[in-house]
Amino acid sequence: MMSYEGAQWEAGLEVLHALSEAGGEAYFVGGCVHDALLGIEASDIDIATSADPGQVLRLFPDTLPTGLKHGTVTVRRSGFFFEVTTFRQEAEYSDGRRPDDVFFVRDVREDLARRDFTINAMAAGADGAIVDPFGGMDDLQARRLRAVGEPARRFDEDALRIVRCVRFAARYGFAVDAPTWAGVLACRDKLRLVAMERIGAELDKMMSAGDPGRAFGLLLAASLPARFKLPLPGAWLARLGRIAAPSADAADALIEAAGSARSGLSRYLPERADADLRWAALFLAGAAAAEEAEEAMKQLHLAGRRVKRIGDIVRLHQSLSIPSGREAWRTNWTIGVLDRGLEAAADWQQLFGAQRMREAFEVPDELQAAAGEWTAAMPAVRAADLAIKGDELCAAANKPPGPWIAIALRRLLEQVAMGTLNNDKETLRIAFLKELRER
Ligand code: ATP
Ligand code: MG
Repeated sequence: MMSYEGAQWEAGLEVLHALSEAGGEAYFVGGCVHDALLGIEASDIDIATSADPGQVLRLFPDTLPTGLKHGTVTVRRSGFFFEVTTFRQEAEYSDGRRPDDVFFVRDVREDLARRDFTINAMAAGADGAIVDPFGGMDDLQARRLRAVGEPARRFDEDALRIVRCVRFAARYGFAVDAPTWAGVLACRDKLRLVAMERIGAELDKMMSAGDPGRAFGLLLAASLPARFKLPLPGAWLARLGRIAAPSADAADALIEAAGSARSGLSRYLPERADADLRWAALFLAGAAAAEEAEEAMKQLHLAGRRVKRIGDIVRLHQSLSIPSGREAWRTNWTIGVLDRGLEAAADWQQLFGAQRMREAFEVPDELQAAAGEWTAAMPAVRAADLAIKGDELCAAANKPPGPWIAIALRRLLEQVAMGTLNNDKETLRIAFLKELRER
């Protein structure tokens, strides 16, 4: 039985009631059902109904035709959005990529049968009763991830489900049922057919919740990344694989054990952090070069500003290269902040704010503690912060503008940032002219 509490469920119940008053059947379906049963707050609530999309559009005043072709209408109610999808089946996956066609069906059970895993194939009615034709409740209780139907057939239809299998196992700390894992291994070559964009979205979800260390441990234990349509940096993956599961037994534990089967990678990933910081940690853990990291993120279709943010953290960390001695640290840090910016500096500090992260990456406590003070003490972090401008350098040197200006400003900026020059116009002008004469 489900019990519905809170404004989002209330609004969802109103949508269910409206659909059933219009003569249809309607249920909550998918992730929100098992999340509620596990006591996890729902992020979004999906609804399945026998009403066809036209009826749904007519029934509700505030809708968006999100995916009419696939039977999905977004309904807005009390400020919440609900994806309302007509019961459907998917016809023929001729290419193992996307269903060729969908067709609408009358029975909720037929709709549940097209879904990937038993815990994802339950429907909950307005009265709280659960429709569970594939034993999803038992699997939830046993903390087990199991495919609906014959695993190899289901993974063959849509190989993305292989990656989703890993995601759900790591998200909830579930063991993967043995026949399901056998299906993963049997069908993994089909991953070549899956668009990198869909893979990237799944990997990014892995980073956002649950235990991403276990997720990547599982991916690597099954050599899944090596089978993606586009290659990810091989040396990075190989290093991650050795960290994640140094032995065959360790790999088996990731697959078979529910709950606390933490992979060796888990200790390199921050516990309370957004996905971007975790991506940065994953690249650093496998010692990816910054260019490789950026290439990998592009192949996975991460948004450009995220590629930049994550790449900056990787570059900043690698530029520190943990030298000995406080002054050397401070120089590297200050130059790193000038190169990568304040956001990267704040991200780095957050990433290594936890003791266990500093231990994993051998970042001295003292460096992390001092970095914040060094940043705060920098009188300038960008050329625009300097008390002298490019045109004033031109006038002082009596030279026409050119690329030399940026170089000269950067030299001044480094000295101001390090505190060896005061940030006032006259001091900077004199320092600039002195350097000009000496060169
Ligand atoms: P999240 O909370 O991360 O969004 P979710 O369980 O809602 O997880 P979605 O990817 O949003 O997962 O999919 C919603 C539901 O649609 C799933 O619970 C599942 O029933 C079904 N589903 C999604 N993708 C597939 C697929 N590739 N094959 C079969 N069923 C799928
Ligand atoms: Mg969802």
